[in-house]
Amino acid sequence: MPRVVTLPGKTIGILGGGQLGRMFAIAARRMGYRVHALDPAPDCPTGQVADVEWSAAYDDTDTAVAFARAVDVVTFEFENIPYETLQRVAEIAPVFPAPLVLDTTRHRLREKTFLSTHGFPVAPYRSVSSVEELRAAVIALKTPCILKTATFGYDGKGQTKITHLDQCDAAWGALGQPLGVVEGYVDFVCELSVIVARAQNGAIRTFDVAENLHEHHVLDVTVVPARVSEATKQAAVAVSVAVAKSLDLVGVLAVELFLVGDGTPQGHLIVNELAPRPHNSGHFTVDACVTSQFEQQLRAVCGLPLGDVRLLSPVAMANILGDCWDNGEPDFAAALEVPGVNLHLYGKSDPRPGRKMGHLTCLAEDAETARLRVIEARQRLRRTHDPS
Ligand code: ADP
Ligand code: MG
Repeated sequence: MPRVVTLPGKTIGILGGGQLGRMFAIAARRMGYRVHALDPAPDCPTGQVADVEWSAAYDDTDTAVAFARAVDVVTFEFENIPYETLQRVAEIAPVFPAPLVLDTTRHRLREKTFLSTHGFPVAPYRSVSSVEELRAAVIALKTPCILKTATFGYDGKGQTKITHLDQCDAAWGALGQPLGVVEGYVDFVCELSVIVARAQNGAIRTFDVAENLHEHHVLDVTVVPARVSEATKQAAVAVSVAVAKSLDLVGVLAVELFLVGDGTPQGHLIVNELAPRPHNSGHFTVDACVTSQFEQQLRAVCGLPLGDVRLLSPVAMANILGDCWDNGEPDFAAALEVPGVNLHLYGKSDPRPGRKMGHLTCLAEDAETARLRVIEARQRLRRTHDPS
């Protein structure tokens, strides 16, 4: 694809209207771009900060075509845009990353096949399309293992841990999809991620490796710098850059990794998942880096030079889920008293349990202090708010 330069003042279309699009739109508007956002839900997090909000179903190709005509370049923040819609849009406006990249990464089986055929290390896995195949896969991979849906999985949704062969019937029944992926359970030392940006001319920049702490299969806290060896960090960056190149990515790619202890001092890395967009574990870049992951996406999509990825301070990020509203309105003022803390809220009005409503970051002199402070700030949110 020839280089497509889209300068400030032009209009960027973003497919998907969640928090990732919102933070992208903020970065784009800061640099003088106009932003149109398309999402089925009116008053969505991105729509609230965009110049123009388009509310239509993702399979409404007529609206998608009109949207594409109204903008100069298109990107996405949501994985499950139908391929047909992306293709129609791509006939009218340049789309970055390419629709094929999204098609590979949003389907767990295609993603795993892509990774393993390119020689990247993945957990042992089997594709299953019946309960009999599931049983055979569980016998081959041994328990424990995890059954995951091939599509529409996020934040641990669509996943069942299988610890005994007896559980296959129930797990298959709960899948709700004709195709699943069974993965051997990885007894990891820790989870890491690397956010890679790749420009239209092939230039690559990676942010500092992030260490991710999950609760119930959902990202809870990210700590940067990751508390792993330099050799592990270099290996994590090397594999992530290689994946971005193999995908011929233009944009931002998040690579989720497991660090596995294997008796060697370093251990080894396994690629868990890819997302061809900014990622929850890269939110630290907004407060702690010269250029954020969202501005990096913007620069890549617009054919501009990538920004400086320098980490300005150790940082920790903690997600704010809807559960923080259990005792009523969170005590934001109490959280903001913690030194070094910033609050990001996504403009969602319905704080359902488990729903990502926002996040906190904390910059501190070292990563552990940042982690403790950001957790302290989040605990303060749950204090009963005294309105007086
Ligand atoms: P998603 O993020 O799309 O929900 P993931 O495959 O990344 O799906 O799974 C979410 C989390 O569940 C991972 O970050 C990890 O904590 C845990 N997990 C997923 N697969 C495995 C596995 N094979 N072994 C151990 N833990 C896993
Ligand atoms: Mg994941």
